[in-house]
Amino acid sequence: MKHIGPFTIWFDTAVPGWVAVGDKQQREGFGSGAKGERDATRYALQEAFPQVAAAISHLCTRYPEATSRAWAAAELLVLGHVLTPDPVEPDEAARVRSQRGNNHSYRLLRQPDGTLSCTCPDYERGGLALPGQALLSGGQSTQQLLLCKHLLAYRLASHLQWPVTKVTHQPLHPKRSHAGRFRGRAVTAVGTRQTHQLVPSNASAQYGNGKPVETNHLSHYRAYLAYTQQRPFSQEKLLSWAVGR
Ligand SMILES: [Zn+2]
Repeated sequence: MKHIGPFTIWFDTAVPGWVAVGDKQQREGFGSGAKGERDATRYALQEAFPQVAAAISHLCTRYPEATSRAWAAAELLVLGHVLTPDPVEPDEAARVRSQRGNNHSYRLLRQPDGTLSCTCPDYERGGLALPGQALLSGGQSTQQLLLCKHLLAYRLASHLQWPVTKVTHQPLHPKRSHAGRFRGRAVTAVGTRQTHQLVPSNASAQYGNGKPVETNHLSHYRAYLAYTQQRPFSQEKLLSWAVGR
C-alpha cells in the first residue's frame, strides 16, 4: 500500500488487481502485476499532481528511454523525498531519500565539470544518458548527462520550483566521531599537563562498575588512567583496551 496525495494505492485481492482509492472513496481499478501497480501510481500522480505529471509526460514523449526513471522521480518528489543538502557538505546539492523507505538517502554531489553525480547503484552502473538540453531545467550544453531517478527528481524539483524537504542533519555524537580515531575506545582528550584529571591518583583501584581491580591488572589500569583520565568501566573494557594498544 502506498499514498500519493489523497490516493491510497493497494492490491485488492477480491478483484484481483491494483486500485487507487481517493479521499472521497472514488475508486479506480487497474490490472494486476507490476503494470497494474505502475498504472495505478501514474493515475494518482496525474490526478493529484497534474503539473508534475505534465512535466514527466513531456520528457517521456521526447525521451521514451527515460520513462521508468522519470515516473519514479515524480513519485520521489511528491512524497517529499528530495531533501536539502547537509550544510557542512559544500559539494552536496541535495539528498534524495531512497524509495524503499528504509530512511537511507543518496547524495547528489557537484562535480568539478559542473555536473551532478548520485551515490546510488543505478548511477554508479552508468544510469541513463540523456543530452544536456533534454533536462527539464533547460540544460545548457550538448554534452551527455548521466541520470538516475534521484537526479531526475532533483531536476524536476528545480524545474517546478517544488519545495524540498528541510532536514536538520544531526552532527555525529562526540563518542561516535571519536570512535574512528580511537578505534572504539571513547576517551577524553588528554592534555600534556593533565589539568583536568577526573580520577584522583590516590583513589583506590576500582572499575567504573564498582568492582575492584585485580593485582595482575593494575599496570594496565594505571596506564588506562594516565591515558584517559578516567576509570575503565569494567575489567573487560580494560583488557580489550590493553590488547588493542
Ligand atoms: Zn541516484
